[in-house]
Amino acid sequence: MPMITREALIELAEFRADEESALSFYFQPQVPADKSHRDELILVRDMVKELARPPAKGGGPSARDLERLLVLGGSLARSHSQAKAVFACERHGIWREFDLPAGLRRTELMVNRRFHLRPFIALMGLFPRTLAALMDRKRARIFEVWMHQAKQIDDLVDELPRRGRSDGWAGYDGGHAERHVENEAMRHFKRVADRALERYGGSGFQGFAVGCRDEIWSEVESQVHPYLRESLIGRFNLDVATATGEQVREHVERLVAEHAAERRQGMVREVLGEAQRNGRGAAGLRPVLGALERGEVQALLVGETLGAQAMECTHCGHLETRTAPECELCGSKMREIEDVADALVGLALRSRAELVYLAGDREFEQAGNVAAMLRFRADQNTPARIAG
Ligand SMILES: [Zn+2]
Repeated sequence: MPMITREALIELAEFRADEESALSFYFQPQVPADKSHRDELILVRDMVKELARPPAKGGGPSARDLERLLVLGGSLARSHSQAKAVFACERHGIWREFDLPAGLRRTELMVNRRFHLRPFIALMGLFPRTLAALMDRKRARIFEVWMHQAKQIDDLVDELPRRGRSDGWAGYDGGHAERHVENEAMRHFKRVADRALERYGGSGFQGFAVGCRDEIWSEVESQVHPYLRESLIGRFNLDVATATGEQVREHVERLVAEHAAERRQGMVREVLGEAQRNGRGAAGLRPVLGALERGEVQALLVGETLGAQAMECTHCGHLETRTAPECELCGSKMREIEDVADALVGLALRSRAELVYLAGDREFEQAGNVAAMLRFRADQNTPARIAG
């Protein structure tokens, strides 16, 4: 079973059904000592039974989807091993299963008009998308590490010129060849740094890590673009030729863990400060919705307990915090959405914004429990502002 890709996540975020027929199922295996297989099985069965009753508003999930979930839930509870997410809507021909790293809060089953993606955001906070470049003087392997998996996306080899016996006089030509090798290595580092920047830019990465030996680090670092250097979460040491993806993942996850809490705190302070100054930050549901719809958001910060209601246009999808019968953009009917966080996450994924999930931050909760770091502000879009 595949791990989820960012593309699949965006596709899920874009889905909206006309009726309450979109099922989202998250399965988190329990610690064996904690619960028996039987308990887990009963839990899943009860959840499915609950949803099998026809909802008052009509619509509802398909009986076939619920039947399939019951069968799957049974086998998951018995095998006890893997966390899993299933998104299903038979009417639209959707059934997607994904393996997840075990880190979900709980097993849950929801039905709505859109898929419930918030648990993913929590997981993405634990296992953020990180770009890792493992390199020596002539070779580099670039990895994407995300959701507890490492995938190699580049393998760059720059052959160094051979130093043969024909180099002649060691005193003169030897030194020349030495410098030549140095230049070639620098060129290689530059090429790797450029490729890393290209990969990193605008693709929702949340950190950059470098794997190299201590003695080449200063040379490597000198070639890393300042933008990427700012995203650097740390460095590790592995052999380029023999390192496995698993080893890269372990090193990167260790760096991420060391770095994560501090970074989240820094972001919260920065966003709230910027929002207060009317700068590159927005705090509270209404300003954040506006910024998301204008495509201004660089990073969306969502509080775990965010539970505000909102209205959504049945035609164009425009979101509003106020109760209005008609959409102010297209005049179509508005309807209430139950979980605004899912809608926010969908918008953020579509605009390739970074997602940050926060739990238990009092100051953040008091500021509205939702905030955004902005790329720019459309209403202040002057060169001076952008430069600042
Ligand atoms: Zn509309």
